[in-house]
Amino acid sequence: MKDLFDRVPPVALNIWKKLPTGLREKYLNNYECAACGKSSAIENFNLELWDKDLAVRGHCSSCGKEVLRICALPEHIIPRPNLKLMRSWQTDVRHMFPAGTPIKALHPKMREKAAVWAAIVRLVRENPTEDLWDSTDIVCFGRIERIRCGHSLLVMLSEDKESIGWWCETCGENGDLYGWQEITLPISL
Ligand SMILES: [Zn+2]
Ligand SMILES: [Zn+2]
Repeated sequence: MKDLFDRVPPVALNIWKKLPTGLREKYLNNYECAACGKSSAIENFNLELWDKDLAVRGHCSSCGKEVLRICALPEHIIPRPNLKLMRSWQTDVRHMFPAGTPIKALHPKMREKAAVWAAIVRLVRENPTEDLWDSTDIVCFGRIERIRCGHSLLVMLSEDKESIGWWCETCGENGDLYGWQEITLPISL
C-alpha cells in the first residue's frame, strides 16, 4: 500500500480512498483479460483520473500483460460537482511559442496562461527523473468569483511522456500540454 501512495497522483489517490472497499475490490478483480481470456486480478496498478472516470492501469495476474480498466465513479465521489463545466485546456505549446516567441509578443489575453505553461515545461525539463510534482510554486490562473485563484498547481508527466497534465485542486482548472519536448522556451517574459 505504501508503494501505491508513492506512485499515484494525489488527486486520484484521494478519490480511490473515498471509494467503498467493495467497489475498489470490484475494480481490481474479475477483470476479463483480452490477452489471455482469463478472469484475472489487476496487479501492480496505478490510478489516473480521466475527467469523471478513474482509470486503473496495471498488469493481468494471469498473463502479466498490461491492462487498463476504466471505472465510472459514483456521482457523489466525483471530486468537484462543477468539474464537467470546467474547461480542460488542451494545449500544443508548439503553436504557442513558435521559435521561442517571448511571452510579451503574445496576445495580452494569453500571456498569463502562456507564462504558466512555460513554467510547467521548464519544471519538467529541469527534473528529468521525476514525473509528479504535487506542490509547485507555479500559481493557478483560474478565477473563483472573478478573483484569481492563485493556488499552487499540481503537475504530472504522462507515462509515455507525451503530455504534461496540470491541475489545481482548489478551483479545478486543469489541462494537458503537448509538444513540450520540441519547443524553445521563451527566453524572456
Ligand atoms: Zn491476461
Ligand atoms: Zn486554481
